[in-house]
Amino acid sequence: MTQFLNNIDSKLPNVQTSIFAVMSKLAFENNAINLSQGYPDFKSDPQLIKLVNQAMVDGKNQYAPMPGVFGLRTQIANKIELLYNAKYNPENEITITAGATQAIFTVLAASIHKGNEVIVFKPAYDCYEPAIKLFGGKPITIQLDPETFKVDWDMVKMLISSKTKMIIINTPHNPSGAVLSKSDMLELEKLLINTNILLLSDEVYEHIIYDGEEHQSAALFPGLAERAFITASFGKTFHNTGWKMGYCLAPAALMKEFQKVHQYNVFSVNHPMQVALETYLKTPNNYLKLGGFYQQKRDLFLDLMKDSRFEFKPSKGTYFQLMNYKNISVERDVDFAKRLIKEIGVASIPVSVFNDDNLDTKVLRFCFAKSDDTLKKAAEILCKI
Ligand code: PMP
Ligand code: GLN
Repeated sequence: MTQFLNNIDSKLPNVQTSIFAVMSKLAFENNAINLSQGYPDFKSDPQLIKLVNQAMVDGKNQYAPMPGVFGLRTQIANKIELLYNAKYNPENEITITAGATQAIFTVLAASIHKGNEVIVFKPAYDCYEPAIKLFGGKPITIQLDPETFKVDWDMVKMLISSKTKMIIINTPHNPSGAVLSKSDMLELEKLLINTNILLLSDEVYEHIIYDGEEHQSAALFPGLAERAFITASFGKTFHNTGWKMGYCLAPAALMKEFQKVHQYNVFSVNHPMQVALETYLKTPNNYLKLGGFYQQKRDLFLDLMKDSRFEFKPSKGTYFQLMNYKNISVERDVDFAKRLIKEIGVASIPVSVFNDDNLDTKVLRFCFAKSDDTLKKAAEILCKI
């Protein structure tokens, strides 16, 4: 192709291809077991697939309403009331999105003005900071303790200023598998009360939480809910990340601003899948059993890895497990992860890419949303190194 311009004055000059795309591609090229990018290698419920097929046969193949199918929004409102005893009006406080990524991007597009500061905890999921910057905002990052991943709320208090527009939290947390406790949420609520600071609460793993812990949604805390955009992902919950379906909850005044952007960056999202999800959500067990399902996988994986040279503490939520390889190598995590793919055939994600200044703590993230057979094969190889 002839190049008219070889430079469009990049708005994100330092952004590279996402680590998930890089590692999955490398895994594919090397025929490695892929425990890197977070997606299941097993099928979603055939009943849900049948419901999507049926919706297509029934002719639900044209644009859905801009905020989403009303019945699905109603089912989401019912779910939030059942789980968190919080009321969101399906008329004007819920929008169906093309995955949580679009919801997060739209929240930031709708709320960040030039010069606004946004507090982000590191390690952080990769889509937050580029989006903040695209809209002229400034990420103010706080590196979490690499052992405990606990938030130092005094530090947060120190970094809040008149420029702070938003705080982003993510619980259960990708990549660490840590969860925010009730007392964390109360601390945050105390900090934000009497301020105009918004909250983006990324809760895509809300149902994937272990050992009897309860998910502390921002919806549970009135002083947080009143200022919160809560983002969620059906891809994570129903084993179909490729469908890119999710939603956003927010009080009406915030949701109004969200929808002003949503209607121009996507307008409305996949119609037959919304119709299917509406029916599927009517059975709470379809999401309530998820924690137990993944806890078995976590426990299997950790049991298989117990004699390896990796060190780990069980993940408290998400379908990710961190493993420290300091007993095996002194290589940088990115190099070590690439070598594992090429030489032993197991792919993971190096955690430094999510940290402030790419802090390297010799930790890899393994996704255990895989069949028991895949986990056994991967662990057998990892135990040999
Ligand atoms: N937030 C976090 C913390 C994630 O791990 C992911 C990846 N699933 C997303 C948001 C994006 O979710 P989705 O695939 O629905 O866009
Ligand atoms: N959320 C997935 C993960 O953490 C990746 C999604 C993506 O590839 N952007 O692995």
